[in-house]
Amino acid sequence: NLLAQDADPIVAIATAPGRGAVGIVRASGKSLGALAQAITGRVLLPRHATYLPFGDGQGGVIDRGLALFFPAPHSYTGEDVLELQIHGGPVVLQLLLARLLELGASSRLRVAQPGEFTRRAFLNGKLDLAQAESVADLIEASTEAAARSATRALAGELSQAVRALAAELVELRLLVEATLDFPEEDIDFLRQAQAQRRLQALQQTLQQVQAKTRQGALLREGLQVVLAGQPNVGKSSLLNALAGAELAIVTPIAGTTRDKVSQTIQIEGVPLHIVDTAGLRDSADAVERIGVERSWHAIAGADVVVFLHDLTRLQAPGYAQAEAEIARGLPKGAPLLHVFNKRDCVETGAQARLLPQVWAQWGVEAGESVWISAATGDGLQELRLKLLQLAGAQPTSEGVFIARQRHVQALEQTGQHLGAALHLIELDAQAPLDLLAEELRLSHQALMAITGEYTPDDLLGAIFSSFCIGK
Ligand code: GDP
Ligand code: ZN
Repeated sequence: NLLAQDADPIVAIATAPGRGAVGIVRASGKSLGALAQAITGRVLLPRHATYLPFGDGQGGVIDRGLALFFPAPHSYTGEDVLELQIHGGPVVLQLLLARLLELGASSRLRVAQPGEFTRRAFLNGKLDLAQAESVADLIEASTEAAARSATRALAGELSQAVRALAAELVELRLLVEATLDFPEEDIDFLRQAQAQRRLQALQQTLQQVQAKTRQGALLREGLQVVLAGQPNVGKSSLLNALAGAELAIVTPIAGTTRDKVSQTIQIEGVPLHIVDTAGLRDSADAVERIGVERSWHAIAGADVVVFLHDLTRLQAPGYAQAEAEIARGLPKGAPLLHVFNKRDCVETGAQARLLPQVWAQWGVEAGESVWISAATGDGLQELRLKLLQLAGAQPTSEGVFIARQRHVQALEQTGQHLGAALHLIELDAQAPLDLLAEELRLSHQALMAITGEYTPDDLLGAIFSSFCIGK
């Protein structure tokens, strides 16, 4: 029985696998008083740390440490929570876990599933869905900015923005539903209430939340950046320079980067998954051909394509043709940045003279370009900022809360239904009120999916119990 299983007390090692100074075993359940007493041999004071031995049941001691008891509902999960802190060795933690399972067998204590503590916190109203997700995002954060923005989401910044939108949406729904329910009221009623202006304002606020949420999703998920270009133009050198370490093998022999090398770096806190493509050229070598094929796959899924050129070889025989061929194969969807490398090898001021020639020679449209030297680091900061800009990321993560694609999509749906509602209301006198009401309902529903608190039926109850229409 799944429901009974869901109510069973759970226990798990809460700290990361491996060795640490301290390790924590945590249990949660409706009533853990007996278990707490059994493992500690005494009645614990709520929310006080008590130092004591944890017995093995055969007269021995597994370890000494701290026991903390958080009675429901004032705990992480909202249930009774027992937290035991001992030395952080995998074996000693396993022994304590096994002893707890033994002691809790009669109350059906079992090992927790992944995320189950946080799931219970959500089900018991300790966190909403967006906050619960940000717990995982904080733990998984790969940059400082991602961690900070996860903390902001956990504190409820996304949830608050969503609730503020929802509150206004509920009032508008209320207005339309009331107009629907009392036939003597007509569209004039909506007009007097400035429904259209309020819908427009709501749409604007929504767009602001959407922009922040997209930034948040970017911080969490990062960007796919592909380094494309002929052999020996400096792709590996650029990747190394951006990463600040010798990660890929740099060699002067053409075609030695056989496979793509992916490396995650960060620019202003945004994780960039950079793929250094193998030299994109025809080759007789079978292994090299596989690498080339993979590179084309990576390019197809890119958020930004960096097309690297070698300033020292612009006039070399066959160079222009090879460039034109690569250009033809680049994905049309992703923004393209032309990066001219080895600028330390050409005279200053060459840029203005060479660039127009280059576009004409390759038969390509003049595009966004940066001149750099991967060897000296010149122009790299400009390149970093351009990359973010092209991907639609702001160079600062100030005030951004972490978010997921799920939130971005939910807000998009909210906006689509809101837009449809606005369109209907602009029809004015002929506005089909039932359709308008339905669009607003769908908009609200999409929005509340973010915090996981969408409850369709009690909404209307709330509307008509609070709405005084004066009749
Ligand atoms: P890839 O085949 O495109 O990955 O090119 P590499 O990164 O392996 O570089 C090819 C050669 O160009 C190496 O000898 C690098 O040292 C050299 N190189 C790369 N960037 C620069 C640069 O900015 N200036 C100069 N002078 N040489 C560079
Ligand atoms: Zn390379």
